[in-house]
Order: sequence, then C-alpha cells, then structure tokens
Amino acid sequence: MDDLKFGTRNKRGDWTPHATVQPAPIWQMPPQLKAVLHWLPHYFLPWNVIFAASAVAYWAWVIPPVEVLRSIQIGWVLWLYAVNAVCVFLFYGAFELHLYVLRRQGSRFKYNAKFPSEQKSKAFWFESQVIDSMLRSFLSGVTIWTGLEALMLWAYANGYAPWLSFADNPWTLALVALAVPIIHEVHFFLVHRLIHTPFLYKWVHSVHHNSVNPSPWSSLAMHPVEHLLYFGTAFYHLILPSNPIIMIYQMNFAGFGAIPGHVGFDKIEVGDDRLVDSHAYAHYLHHKYFEVNYGDALIPLDKWFGTWHDGSPEGEARMQARYRKRKEKLAARKAQLDAKGATE
Ligand SMILES: [Zn+2]
Ligand SMILES: [Zn+2]
Repeated sequence: MDDLKFGTRNKRGDWTPHATVQPAPIWQMPPQLKAVLHWLPHYFLPWNVIFAASAVAYWAWVIPPVEVLRSIQIGWVLWLYAVNAVCVFLFYGAFELHLYVLRRQGSRFKYNAKFPSEQKSKAFWFESQVIDSMLRSFLSGVTIWTGLEALMLWAYANGYAPWLSFADNPWTLALVALAVPIIHEVHFFLVHRLIHTPFLYKWVHSVHHNSVNPSPWSSLAMHPVEHLLYFGTAFYHLILPSNPIIMIYQMNFAGFGAIPGHVGFDKIEVGDDRLVDSHAYAHYLHHKYFEVNYGDALIPLDKWFGTWHDGSPEGEARMQARYRKRKEKLAARKAQLDAKGATE
C-alpha cells in the first residue's frame, strides 16, 4: 500500500497524514447530518463493540457468582488478575508482534520512522522502552485495574452500588452503556490535565511521557498513581444507575482502549487493500509535544480549553504562540520579582 497517497514523509522518514485530526462531527455547527451518519458506525465499530463484548464474556465466564463476590478472597482476585493479564498480553502483544516485531507493514503509515527497540535510553528500566513498559503494565497496571475491579464487584455484591437489571431497565442501561466512552473521555481529560501540573508531572506522569515515540506497550506504561487515577473511571458506577457488566465494560474500555492511541501507526493494513484507521494521531501529537491534546476529541474539550493541535501548520502555529505567551508571562513575573528583590 502506498502511504504517500495519504501523507508525506520527511527526510528523517517520519510520516505525516494529509488529513488533519477532527473532533467527532456531532459538535459541528450548523449540524452536518451526512458527516454524523458517516461517523456514527465508528462510535461502535470496531473497538467499542469489542470492549463491550469482552465485558459480557467476562460476566459469563470469568466473574465468580455473587455469593463468592460478597467477600474479597485472594483466590478469585488472583484469577481475575490472571485473566486480565492474559488478555492484555494477547491483545497488546498482537499489535506489538504484527507491527513492531515482525514489522509486517514496515514503516508505512508510521509517524516516527524509528522503532523504540533501536533506541536505548537511560530513562527506561533496562534501557528498553518495551521491557520497561511491559513490567509497568503487569506489575502495577493490571494489579491496580484488578484491585479496583474486585472492589467494585464486592460493592455490587453487597448492595453498595446501584445494580439495575437489564430485564427491568433496558433503556436506562442502554443509555449508560452508550455513555461509557463519554464518561471515559471526560474523566481522562480531567485526570490528564491534573497530572500535567508541575508537581504531579514530575513525580507521576513523566513516566508515561518517557515514551516520546509510543508503541503498543506504552499504553499502560504509567506510574501507579496514574494507574489509580486512570482506572478510577469505575467509581462513577458507584453512583450511576448501572450494572456490573457495564462497570466491567468501563474498565475494559480503559484497559484495552488505550492501545489505539499508542499504536504509532496511522493506519493498519489488513490484507492487500484494506486499511483500518487507528485514530492515534491526536495522542501521538500529545506524546510529541506534551502540552496539547489532553483528550481524544470525542468531545472537543481541547478546543474549548485552547490546547487543541489538529496536526496542521495552523495547529502548530497556535501551539507555538501559546508557548511564547507563557514564556513572556514567566519572564515578566521573574523581572517583577527581581525588581522587588533589588529594592528590598
Ligand atoms: Zn499516552
Ligand atoms: Zn500527558
């Protein structure tokens, strides 16, 4: 597949898409019915349907009966950890194997021409982005994910969370299930913005940003505090009229849904003539420039808060202007303080 029909490659070999990133078209004014209808299937396919189906499968085959969930027991919690870990290994591993180990599509549609395995860095454990990211994913990522999930299941089993049945409340639960990606987007934006404040960035979020050139395992390469905040989306179901299956969907959405944003390729080739959009560019730009695109543009929060970068030269200029303004502000404040110090 000729990726130069869809973008350009610079002399370093980095590929940039022609198309800019756009927030979901539901926000366009005046309303663009055709664009919304074209976009709508993407709200479900393929990822959200896969994550929702995974939650149903968990409930059917993985989660123990309610009587067991009433007390936290190491046996079932370990079993849940094992299932989460195996699923992460297989799901993340499939992307890693296809795109980064076997390199089946070379660097076609790859934003950064370099592969992390070729770049050793002291920022990572064992100087390897992949080993560091995998260890962080399994040691703290899946552990905290499982811990919060077990706690939520225990809360449901003991009547501490509102548990509606699908038979009695199909419409309410359908609405809550539909809102899962929206809850995730708003929560992720707020938490992400919070951990970009200087103190939390230095001690917590910088771990995730060690991956300047993200690859699939970067998805859950986070500090444990960030894991805790990230998987905290589950707690909304302590107050929402919901159901444990939807709570599991919310957690699987966070756990498995981080992959598309970190895949490092704009499109994944399927067979000889099909391309699947990864929708990774907005978050790739976040890893490249740090202070843009805190969200994933399902809701244009970054546009509203002035941190949106759509990948265009205009987006770049807006970002540079914002940086310049902040630098000037800091310099003015420093000059003011120095002047004050000199008069004292
Ligand atoms: Zn990231
Ligand atoms: Zn960040």
